[in-house]
Amino acid sequence: METVDNRSRLIEVEPLEGESLSHFLGRFRRANYLTTTGLGKLTGLGAVISRWEKLLLNPFPTRQELEALANVVGIDVERLGEMLPPKGVGIKHRPILLCAVCYGEFPWHRIEWQFKDRLGCDRHQLRLLPNCTNCQRLFPIPADWVQGECQHCFLPFATMAKRQKSIG
Ligand SMILES: [Zn+2]
Ligand SMILES: [Zn+2]
Repeated sequence: METVDNRSRLIEVEPLEGESLSHFLGRFRRANYLTTTGLGKLTGLGAVISRWEKLLLNPFPTRQELEALANVVGIDVERLGEMLPPKGVGIKHRPILLCAVCYGEFPWHRIEWQFKDRLGCDRHQLRLLPNCTNCQRLFPIPADWVQGECQHCFLPFATMAKRQKSIG
């Protein structure tokens, strides 16, 4: 019988600057044709993967869990830690927030948008969007951001910048 080394068959996915763990997990899974359940099995983390994709980070990922993920995705634990809020910073998992201007520059979800005490985007001094500016539907979890547009009315995320208000 042929033994299969799963690790050696996986495609590595480069983490992006400021990218949230949820967004990264979605990209990694799609590059490797894995479902959430499939990645849960490969890492031995089971349903924890699905919780992380929903940005449910309470209980916070342990070193051991991150090592299990690191072994599969081929990225070190410290770099994975940058996809999470730093120690002492709370996170809100809902609604998923967006700075459409940031997204227009670099199309991925940033972990800092979900920091609990954030009033808006620090870079652009704009309020973060909690839903689509056209149809008001909530944004999907970042793991499911593929086309960079509203799943219901198909308005591109970057276009929503026109409706973003400044802070204060
Ligand atoms: Zn921004
Ligand atoms: Zn919409």
